[in-house]
Amino acid sequence: MSSVSLPTLEAFLAPLPAYRHAQVWKGMFDASLRGWESISPLPSALRFELKDTLPWMALQEKHVLASTRGDTFKALLETNDHKMIETVIMKNSRGFWSVCVSSQVGCAMACTFCATGKMGFTRNLTREEIIDQYRFWIYFLAGKPKLEQRISNLVYMGMGEPLANYENVKGSLKLLLKYTDMGPTRITVSSVGLIPMLRKLLNDPEWPPVRLAVSLHSADGETRRNIMPSSYPNFLEDLASWTKEYFTQFASRRRHLTFEYVMLSGVNDTPMHAEKLIQFARKVGKVKINLIPYNDTKSKYNTSESAALIAFEKKLLDARVDVTRRRTMGADIAAACGQLIVEKKAATSL
Ligand code: SF4
Repeated sequence: MSSVSLPTLEAFLAPLPAYRHAQVWKGMFDASLRGWESISPLPSALRFELKDTLPWMALQEKHVLASTRGDTFKALLETNDHKMIETVIMKNSRGFWSVCVSSQVGCAMACTFCATGKMGFTRNLTREEIIDQYRFWIYFLAGKPKLEQRISNLVYMGMGEPLANYENVKGSLKLLLKYTDMGPTRITVSSVGLIPMLRKLLNDPEWPPVRLAVSLHSADGETRRNIMPSSYPNFLEDLASWTKEYFTQFASRRRHLTFEYVMLSGVNDTPMHAEKLIQFARKVGKVKINLIPYNDTKSKYNTSESAALIAFEKKLLDARVDVTRRRTMGADIAAACGQLIVEKKAATSL
């Protein structure tokens, strides 16, 4: 097979009529198919032309790790230009799977509590490389019939800042929404809070109505700047006005916006930080805050003590702030939030 760059799929499809595009994409999302030649609605000549021109997958499996409880798997995948990325699948509270995809190789945002942030940025993933992480997991599950097969949710919370790769992320969302059973409320795009991009999506009629999760992590400006170098002096004011605009524009999507808050012991979990968070919530209207226990990323931080976490949560609840707490999954295989990093050490394949 010849070595081809990934945008060639788009170039290959361009001269074909729309119904052929649909046949190709439907075939690519069919868990029972394993190659271009098996997309039976396509004419035989076209199937073999595809086979001779393009790889079936934009990503190749290097290994898959399984958590001891068997409820989380993490895959290391290699791009055609030999870059490594990670993707995770976790069993959610309803017993179905949630897929977590990466949007970039590495990340430029350098959040100090995040393993990916230490890698630096290499490049954006293409639209095909993003959807192929989802395809990887549907084939993975199809090969394990004893496992639950249904993927009910998809989150863009792996390596990279999705909104810094806006067009490819949008392109991948549109394909997933069109050719899989994934509805917009079952997909969440997470962002560090890139204000220009958040503003862009507000005014983009083609941006799908998926859920958004903004990484707040502190409503105290100085604390946030210390833990998130992408922050800046007026960030919280800008985020508050963006949030109000979002609620004005999409009143029906109020529940589709969440603020993420990683709990770092002694850093952002004090009563002062809880009070600032309450003030922020009051300023922007009713918002949902998701508290995330910090997962070890070999950084200087520790997760909040249980008493501090409970006291923080109680203060928010007493102030009638809508607060939830995320379960930690896959920490034993470094697949939990903030732990994705491509390490050079060998790992045991499944
Ligand atoms: S938390 Fe997200 S945005 Fe921040 S460095 Fe990690 S991957 Fe990048």
